[in-house]
Amino acid sequence: MKNVAIVTGGARGIGLAITKRLIESNYIVIVSDILEGLVDTEKIENSDCHYFKCDITKKNDIIQLFNFVKATFDKIDLLVNNAGIIKDNMIWNMPEEDFDKVIDVNLKGTWLMCKQAAIMMKAQNFGRIVNISSRAWLGNKGQSNYSASKAGVIGLTRVLALELGKYNICVNAVAPGLINTPLTQNLKPDVLESLINAQPTNNIGQPEDVANAVMFLGSEITKFITGQVIYVDGGKSISSNMF
Ligand code: NDP
Repeated sequence: MKNVAIVTGGARGIGLAITKRLIESNYIVIVSDILEGLVDTEKIENSDCHYFKCDITKKNDIIQLFNFVKATFDKIDLLVNNAGIIKDNMIWNMPEEDFDKVIDVNLKGTWLMCKQAAIMMKAQNFGRIVNISSRAWLGNKGQSNYSASKAGVIGLTRVLALELGKYNICVNAVAPGLINTPLTQNLKPDVLESLINAQPTNNIGQPEDVANAVMFLGSEITKFITGQVIYVDGGKSISSNMF
């Protein structure tokens, strides 16, 4: 049987690129998202692509998703925790609920998904989990909620690598930098330009660049790589000093 993967937040942006990349590589993909169906203009017409509406902050949605996967495919080879949100503000202007919401989706939602995946993968003695963090975990002004959530995702990744390693389950993270998605297309043009100029590679990454790293970490060949972070950020994480 083909490999089976779940991609959260897979309806658009980076998640959609990951879904397409996995389908090309012969995976069956269950796209889970709070959006209704695949919203990108290039919808995936493929019988190996299944859509399951699931809000990762709701434990019952997640349990139903895993029940569906178990009943339909009886296995899960790869979980990609991609769903994430931003609600930026300097801390003195950030409403407490914007801190809670970002932590709830980006960190707790990822934890809830990992928990169900770990139970199923441990029982089958195999699995791969790839968590989408962000270069911003290193620190970005205006992102005290987001950076904390993405730093938490890296801590979670490292702990799960320790806990699940002996069950042939590898858990790794991808930390994208500036990527061309609906999330960044909403930035003001001058802000976007200054961000691009601050990249060592002087460009913006594409969702497919992230998808390629996920494909590598999610595959069976990475059996001796776990608890690691791959940056897909045009070198931005090396240093903030461009001179
Ligand atoms: P998008 O906003 O384009 O896509 C994220 C998807 O996740 C959306 O479809 C969104 O639905 C969905 N989603 C949001 N909340 C939930 C939830 N509670 N349950 C299920 N799905 C949810 O983001 P990107 O593609 O740009 O980002 C994908 C990931 O990559 C995120 O984790 C992000 O933090 C990370 N990242 C992105 C970078 C970038 O430059 N774009 C840089 C670094 C990291 P809806 O639109 O309805 O909210």
